[in-house]
Amino acid sequence: MAEVVLVALSLGALGWTLAEYLLHRFVFHGRSATRLGAQEHRRHHAEVDYFAPWWQKALAALVVTAAMLPLSILAAGAASGWAFTAGFIVMYLGYEVLHRRAHTRPPRGPYGRWRRRNHFAHHFVDPRRGHGVTSPLWDLVFGTRLPLRRVAVPRRLAMRWLVDGEGELLPAYVGDYELVGSPRSDARSRHADREAALANRSPLRDAAEVN
Ligand SMILES: [Zn+2]
Ligand SMILES: [Zn+2]
Repeated sequence: MAEVVLVALSLGALGWTLAEYLLHRFVFHGRSATRLGAQEHRRHHAEVDYFAPWWQKALAALVVTAAMLPLSILAAGAASGWAFTAGFIVMYLGYEVLHRRAHTRPPRGPYGRWRRRNHFAHHFVDPRRGHGVTSPLWDLVFGTRLPLRRVAVPRRLAMRWLVDGEGELLPAYVGDYELVGSPRSDARSRHADREAALANRSPLRDAAEVN
């Protein structure tokens, strides 16, 4: 019994990683930039320290739980149904924390380093690839993996942990990142970043124009 519950819990967590990939690829970066979720996410790409409000995420988690719990209990019984739903929701919450920390805190350890390089290559190199935030699994399965090269980061969008007080790249990260373009953010560059985010384009094209 305990093993079955453990398997259901793990399947729930794995289920979230697939949902994370599919949502990110087909909804957040889907054809419509105005769809629920897509609008907030494109804004996150244009202004990297913008995150959709917590209440929206909590509401989404609540709605998903309310739908998933009875269905999985019906399909697999009470214990496994609860475990599957718990695995899914806990992994979702983990994703939220890991995504935010990637933007706001410096990497610690190989997993944190990979997560940031992959996610910022998604942000700045090619937003149509590298959709997995917590794992590379589904990008590997669906052929959308980003190569782990040095990531070019537009200076005006650089994460705070990446730079020193002068806005220069910290020596610890020269192997993984480079800064390009001007640190200046004005109405023109903000408009260009919004346009790039709406079109699922890298903001680097505009950074190169500014140079
Ligand atoms: Zn992000
Ligand atoms: Zn994205």
